[in-house]
Amino acid sequence: MAAGFTPGIHHVTAIAGDPIRNIRFYTEVLGQRLVKRTVNFDDPATYHLYFGDRTGKPGTILSFFPWPRAPKGRKGFGQPRALSFAIPPDSAGYWVERLARFGVAAGEPRERWEETVIPFQDPDGLELELVAGASLPESEPWEHSPVPPEQAIRGLRGVALWELDAGPTVAFFTRVMGLSPIADSGERLRLALPEGKLVIDILEAGDALRPTVGVGTIHHVALRAESGPLQVAWRGSLLAAGLEVTPIINRQYFHSIYFREPGGVLLEVATDPPGFTLDEGVEELGTHLKLPAQYEPARARIEAVLPNLKEEEPT
Ligand code: ZN
Repeated sequence: MAAGFTPGIHHVTAIAGDPIRNIRFYTEVLGQRLVKRTVNFDDPATYHLYFGDRTGKPGTILSFFPWPRAPKGRKGFGQPRALSFAIPPDSAGYWVERLARFGVAAGEPRERWEETVIPFQDPDGLELELVAGASLPESEPWEHSPVPPEQAIRGLRGVALWELDAGPTVAFFTRVMGLSPIADSGERLRLALPEGKLVIDILEAGDALRPTVGVGTIHHVALRAESGPLQVAWRGSLLAAGLEVTPIINRQYFHSIYFREPGGVLLEVATDPPGFTLDEGVEELGTHLKLPAQYEPARARIEAVLPNLKEEEPT
């Protein structure tokens, strides 16, 4: 099967500090649903918290590894720099007012290629943008969100990657992933799939430093594969392009392969199925600590070392 185009971003994973502060910000301020609370399958003493739309549809998911005692990460080249959420075209005013009301320091809204961009940071210093424009991902509003559905974040708009040398990264995304350059301001080159469904901006990092993984940084960006066979095809294309790619890894809610693009950013290709309703009904998503089968026998020990999220139990 030919890999074709990826339909877009599947999820983005970042590092947070305190998990309760993280949950409060993304649910109470940004109005996202906590769709899954589980552990980092490579480090089960750490939570893995997933936020998204009502069902955690691919393309709406931002997830976090909360490391309460870790230092801030250093931002640098070969790293995703900022994550953009798509909001409806006429909702920028609502969001400027909402962020101010919650004491979130946001930059002045600015125009970027016919979209209105509101830059801000989450409580850990993660760089985020709300982008009001015509291209909105398909998503379902969460009925208990504090944000009215007509203003709600619709999903991920794109990411900006900070690169020391844009050339090899641009070549990778255009030749292997099928994106095309659609705009260039000199400091920001925009690559996109047809119909603007996947947007990746490349920023030249100038004299930036080597990054460190830590609180407030993006860990990796996952692109969608609509099925297992398409993921296998993607893996073949990536190997044929000379990249080192992991075997397929079962992440319970999707299957994953990981690789680094030529500039060093960690990328993943994740399958759409089976999704977050695998082990919880839609109504219950995110309300229980869910563990994959291999960790279920150790549940008591895992629960004993994880920070208590009790304040966040649904009421
Ligand atoms: Zn991932």
